[in-house]
Amino acid sequence: MTLSLGIDFGTSGARGVVIDEEGRVLSEMRHYWLVETINWVKCWREALWSLLGQIPEALRGEIGAIAINGTSSTILLTDGAGEPIDAPLLYNDGRGATALERLSWFAPANHTVLSATSSLAKLLWMQALPDFTKARYLLHQADWLGFLLHGKLGISDYHNALKLGYDVEKLQYPEWLEQLEIPLQLPQVLTPGTAIGELLPRIAADFGFKGDCLVVAGTTDSIAAFLASGAKFPGEAVTSLGSTLVLKLLSRQRIEDARYGIYSHRLGDLWLTGGASNTGGAVLKHFFSNVELVRLSAEINPTQPSELDYYPLLKPGDRFPINDPQLLPRLEPRPDQNKEFLHGLLESMARIETRGYELLQNLGADSLTHIYTAGGGATNSTWTAIRQRYLKVPVVSSIHREAAYGTALLAMGKVQIYGVALL
Ligand code: ADP
Repeated sequence: MTLSLGIDFGTSGARGVVIDEEGRVLSEMRHYWLVETINWVKCWREALWSLLGQIPEALRGEIGAIAINGTSSTILLTDGAGEPIDAPLLYNDGRGATALERLSWFAPANHTVLSATSSLAKLLWMQALPDFTKARYLLHQADWLGFLLHGKLGISDYHNALKLGYDVEKLQYPEWLEQLEIPLQLPQVLTPGTAIGELLPRIAADFGFKGDCLVVAGTTDSIAAFLASGAKFPGEAVTSLGSTLVLKLLSRQRIEDARYGIYSHRLGDLWLTGGASNTGGAVLKHFFSNVELVRLSAEINPTQPSELDYYPLLKPGDRFPINDPQLLPRLEPRPDQNKEFLHGLLESMARIETRGYELLQNLGADSLTHIYTAGGGATNSTWTAIRQRYLKVPVVSSIHREAAYGTALLAMGKVQIYGVALL
């Protein structure tokens, strides 16, 4: 039996999952880091070795393929030997804002790279670094971690490369990007899951892996979570009820609308369309502990609609499904009873989710048929029942919610979208 290893580098730590050919989880590993970490390169290296070291020895020699996902738009520059020449820029780093004006002279209007946190905006900002002349390669987090395992530089996948401006439809860098004349090697872009090379002999020997264990092209954390859910047909969607509310709907049509922060990732022959609202669990967390959320939710009758009409935000502004940077949080009137307040919040977020899916469909995405749910809110059955009432399609919890599980499926080559293998 050949096993597969998926590794997820998320926002708060790294996780690993070993699965067998039937998709059963045989082992799970975790390594957390401090949010205030300063030396990310050291931290990621340590996390990678820690995860490999946690895999039970009996399983290591059975692993045939490894894939890694990183956070989207987390990038770093390396020299010709793969050594980072400066600190990485993390997914949420907005310093690329200073490069947006220059970028707008080249990139098409409303392109997804025209955001302060896009990989390309970050790369242009990095060009002013004192050591930039030493840089030979631009790599995403997942590319660099993969390099540590297979030793090949300058390789990425079309999920990580989307926000670098790579044309995922034509599978090439667009001409306008070439005109920027960035003096380093942009990554060669592969389909996620493509074999890149065997594990370096030194690592295979140190950890007891097979010499022919393959490392394959990875993906981003949110796509890995989508793959883990099991959604694979047009019209199937995954709602992430984490700190924010993130919708992803699989569609035959590609949708791009920068006004609403909507863009599409390529997934085989289909498109993963999506948008993210600032409402979500962070607002719930502001008012209630997780224990209170469980206790109060159990007291709510989900079949009874709440009259409270909120737009739950922690600060003004939302982009999707309402594009208004000044949009004010609406959290009044606040009833005396916490149970009623929570009912109003859950119900209002369900309305925003419904409006989000309506927007994606109005812009041309396939009709919604089925929703899987991921994130901290997925376990709340009261909320699921309320959402079900609004969304009017089956709403279920994702069977597997760990991004690392989706990445393990990618490593195994088991990702089938609409009956077609990704590769
Ligand atoms: P992220 O990874 O985006 O930070 P998680 O997926 O870990 O978020 O989910 C955390 C969020 O889930 C918190 O904001 C919390 O308020 C919310 N949450 C946790 N338990 C519940 C619950 N029982 N019902 C609704 N929301 C919950």
